[in-house]
Amino acid sequence: MNTRTKSRAAPTGPSPFAIEAAALPVEKFSDPEITAKGEPRAHVPLTRLDTLWFNTGTLCNLACASCYIESSPTNDALVYIAAKHVARFLDEIESEGMKTREIGFTGGEPFMNPDMLAMLEDTLDRGFDALVLTNAMKPMRRREAALVALRKRHGDRLTLRVSLDHHTQTVHEAERGPRSWDAAMEGLRWLSREGFSLAVAGRLLPGEGEAEARQHYAALFDREGIDVAAQDPMRLVLFPEMDESKDIAEITTACWSILDKSPSDVMCATSRMVVHRKGEAAPRVAACTLIPYDSGFDMGGDLKEASREVSLNHPHCARFCVLGGASCSA
Ligand code: SF4
Ligand code: SF4
Repeated sequence: MNTRTKSRAAPTGPSPFAIEAAALPVEKFSDPEITAKGEPRAHVPLTRLDTLWFNTGTLCNLACASCYIESSPTNDALVYIAAKHVARFLDEIESEGMKTREIGFTGGEPFMNPDMLAMLEDTLDRGFDALVLTNAMKPMRRREAALVALRKRHGDRLTLRVSLDHHTQTVHEAERGPRSWDAAMEGLRWLSREGFSLAVAGRLLPGEGEAEARQHYAALFDREGIDVAAQDPMRLVLFPEMDESKDIAEITTACWSILDKSPSDVMCATSRMVVHRKGEAAPRVAACTLIPYDSGFDMGGDLKEASREVSLNHPHCARFCVLGGASCSA
């Protein structure tokens, strides 16, 4: 599956976000119903499809050190999704009377997909909110005029969320490659100047506190004239670490009460992602944005079929979604 190769601008060292932990034992996350200890595995029902994501394709102008989806300038494991395929899923939302509020687009870099503007237009014209995750570099900058026109027509129903992995250039470029900082900052300043509804996605270094990180981002946004409220978790989204090869506890049905969490708190309770895998005739629906390739998380060919519950049978379910640094061992 991994056709990822390094671009000339790729980082040369290890990811600064790498996790220090033992390797994941092979017996973990191997049975969708039962954990390695023989306990019942947790499942999450879909309560409402609030957000439907489309993966626009894995091709990207960058090749970040720890890109969870292994994007790069050469990896097309997920091919460019076509506007006509997106339209089919939007038609299904409408004909089934689903109460979907938001359509998200993620990649790769979405603005490399030649149908990106047509898909955005279709989404917004149908009355959905649209959220696009971008690195705000050249592929987005080439679409400036069209984006400004969309902003004029649809205002804050179009939000762009820009990945700025860290509030320092050094860490950001260690993850994203040399010369990635200035281009991202220029893109952010342009979006801010043009008045777009804007958000930033960052990451926490191992051991870095969230409050401290928010202060540093706030100072950066202030210096650079970027209008993003760093204290608002919807506007500055800070992600915990992810590494599917490192050991982590499995999630049992008992975890919810131990952690005082509910299945409805995790993303797959309210969202799904459509992916078009290379070699497949048509796009299919994955349980969430984090696990596009694993056949255990392929939920079906349409949204109705994909409405069944998800078995939390992947290390990302534990580390990223449920535990977030906590432990649910009784
Ligand atoms: S910009 Fe995003 S999609 Fe592209 S390689 Fe980096 S993390 Fe992956
Ligand atoms: S990683 Fe697992 S728990 Fe999280 S949204 Fe995806 S399927 Fe659900």
